Amino acid sequence: MHKLTCEQVLGLLSFYVEKKLSPNLMKEVEYHLNVCKSCKTEYFNLINILNNCNEKNSQIAISDINNDDGYSKLQYKVFMDNLSAYIDNELDDDENIKIKKISIINQNARQELENMLYFRYLLQSAFDMTKLRLKKDYSAEIVNSLYNTKKKNKFLLSINYSFLLIILLYLLIFLKIIHN
Ligand SMILES: [Zn+2]
Repeated sequence: MHKLTCEQVLGLLSFYVEKKLSPNLMKEVEYHLNVCKSCKTEYFNLINILNNCNEKNSQIAISDINNDDGYSKLQYKVFMDNLSAYIDNELDDDENIKIKKISIINQNARQELENMLYFRYLLQSAFDMTKLRLKKDYSAEIVNSLYNTKKKNKFLLSINYSFLLIILLYLLIFLKIIHN
């Protein structure tokens, strides 16, 4: 058995609590916790936090059950089924009001609505970013092609000038010959 350091044990602690380590590692962490006071304290802290969480969760579950007379459960299902259509403005006025009401009364429903809106927002901003990037690339392409045709034109223009110069030169030579 090789000894684990405190740092390693603390890193493994949450897995240890959930019993998700291999049998060997479980044993090694257990051994360390038995001999190391500071890690044992961390272990108890973690256990306390987890117990508090579980308690809160079960309280919420119990209050949900107490409120649930079948009606609110059905309401919630209606809400979830229509949520996406509600955000997309695809519902008629009656249905819109129904969804709005449920989101005000039911805290879970409101949370779902917020999550969905946030998700849509992320999606939209990702889409906008891609659009912007495409636009940028597109404009860059246009600028590039413009620049290239300009260069080409300049090239053609310089050919014309040299052609003209050569003709002039020939003309001069020709004139000189005739003059002689
Ligand atoms: Zn330790």
